[in-house]
Amino acid sequence: MVKFTKEQITEHIWRLRGLGDVCMYYVRGSAKGALIDTAYGVGDLKGFVENEFHQPYDVIITHGHADHANGISQWPAVYMNHRDIDLYYTRSDIALRKQMLRRTVPDIDAYPEEDFHSTFHGTFLPLDDTMTFDLGDCTIRTILAPGHTQGMMVLLVPEDRTALFGDACGVSTFLFRDEASTVAEYCNTLKKLKQYEDTYDRILRQHGTCESPKSLLDENLEVAEEILAGKDHHIPFEYMGYHVWMAEPVDPVTFQRVDGKSGNIIYADNKIR
Ligand SMILES: [Zn+2]
Repeated sequence: MVKFTKEQITEHIWRLRGLGDVCMYYVRGSAKGALIDTAYGVGDLKGFVENEFHQPYDVIITHGHADHANGISQWPAVYMNHRDIDLYYTRSDIALRKQMLRRTVPDIDAYPEEDFHSTFHGTFLPLDDTMTFDLGDCTIRTILAPGHTQGMMVLLVPEDRTALFGDACGVSTFLFRDEASTVAEYCNTLKKLKQYEDTYDRILRQHGTCESPKSLLDENLEVAEEILAGKDHHIPFEYMGYHVWMAEPVDPVTFQRVDGKSGNIIYADNKIR
């Protein structure tokens, strides 16, 4: 049986964890809440959320990748940017999810098939740039941030001066699959995100340490510009059959940059310009 846990991060934001290496968030307002992402879709996340928070809530999906969106079939309707709908359907099969989970949950095959939620047949509600979810004493503001995927969304909780970056900008931002933008296009997204910098002090993410210093954004921009200038370290990197490039060298155990900065980009040759 899959166990879920919750941990309060700010006044209104809880970090939720289930099976695997990706976390989710719950934003609790005085009138209603919002579940941010649903991870791999293993176990009764809906039951956990409703048992813990006891209030009406929306489900908001940061982007269509299997490790963020695959729990959505527990709900009849979820908010997700429509550019990622096809992506969700191409990545929702159980075999792929098990392959991804096996890296951090070696006994994944011991979990019964009925723990894995099936493909979503409900409604994708529109989620796009500059929307506001009013939760009572706090809000969630949305920013469309294409790069990692075309429908990637960054969410702001300005009352807690916190930005939820999802996979939009990370310690190793993946820009190599078909759904990714080029590094050149991604630079524009990072410059757009910079316009919101005075609204937050904390950056929460969904992988690894799940939090980064505010310099993460500038460091990703710096790395992106180095790639465009052909001045990055261009280190061979392999991930699930993809042979791609890592811009900056990292410690092989901690995956942290050896120079102490935190932003890094993994990219393919056909995703530069
Ligand atoms: Zn992703």
